[in-house]
Amino acid sequence: MSSRRLLASLGALALLLAACSPQYPESCPSSKPIGLANAHEIADDDNLPFRFPLGEFANDSTFLCCWFGVSNECTPEIKDCYEYPVLLFHAAEDYWGPAGTPVYAMADGHMSFSGTAGGYGWLILIDHPQTNLYSLYGHLSPSRWRLESGTEVKRGDLIAYLGDSDENGGSKEHPVQTHLHFGIRAGQTADYPLKGEWRFMAGWVRLCPQDLGWLQPSLVITSQEIPAGGYPQPRVAFWTRWGFELLITSILAVGAVGLLINGVRKKHRFLPLFPGICAVAAGIVLHNRMKFTYALIVVGIFILAIGIYCFIRRSVQRG
Ligand SMILES: [Zn+2]
Repeated sequence: MSSRRLLASLGALALLLAACSPQYPESCPSSKPIGLANAHEIADDDNLPFRFPLGEFANDSTFLCCWFGVSNECTPEIKDCYEYPVLLFHAAEDYWGPAGTPVYAMADGHMSFSGTAGGYGWLILIDHPQTNLYSLYGHLSPSRWRLESGTEVKRGDLIAYLGDSDENGGSKEHPVQTHLHFGIRAGQTADYPLKGEWRFMAGWVRLCPQDLGWLQPSLVITSQEIPAGGYPQPRVAFWTRWGFELLITSILAVGAVGLLINGVRKKHRFLPLFPGICAVAAGIVLHNRMKFTYALIVVGIFILAIGIYCFIRRSVQRG
């Protein structure tokens, strides 16, 4: 392909992406936690559908971050803000608590994820099919006991402990104040992709959190009425929700096949090894319980086998 044609294609792709990218808001409705003064009473009442994930709602004067829908811009009210080139909104509520504070499941459910995840330190996600919600518990302790993925939990079960400031997504140089990042979203984790604005692990988002299905946690926790049929998910086009993920996967998959064809044709020694690795990596990285990512891994292993065969044959021929 000539360099002029390549530039024209890249320009067209950039224009297409710009045209498709959503209009990001400059502000979103935000609200401080509501009704948590008697959080411990909600915790103790087994007749209520949900419970507060900590023993009680407390805030220490040095901790003031972040309530639902608030932006990451530094203001006198937000002490734990961080400067970031993109304006983001908080899709959860943060509750202060010392390291080692026990964290409890807000309702019966299935633990779909329990593991380390970027800035969260240890992260836990629980699906609650009976109310069509999932809950997200971030900044937990990787060094203390916690429940494993796949566990069925009951409302109020101990699931993990809050992490120390150097293991909860922070480090010795950049500690993160000990707190629980608690999110609640309509739908189940499998209803959302791993990548992009709609990703199921999102803590800070560029669109208003409620437009992505995130709910204000304290409002849900203190509510006693659950909508019939569970909490409704936001209605958006399939491409809006999954587009970014599908785009990355397609580029990787097409690239893998292209590399393979080129590597086999030009009798390159190492080139045939990369497409398989590329496809397997795409499948693993994008693994989100969508069936096609498993297919991608299988296809990737197949391509990798061809690559290894080519590599061994050419090594023998040359040796
Ligand atoms: Zn947070």
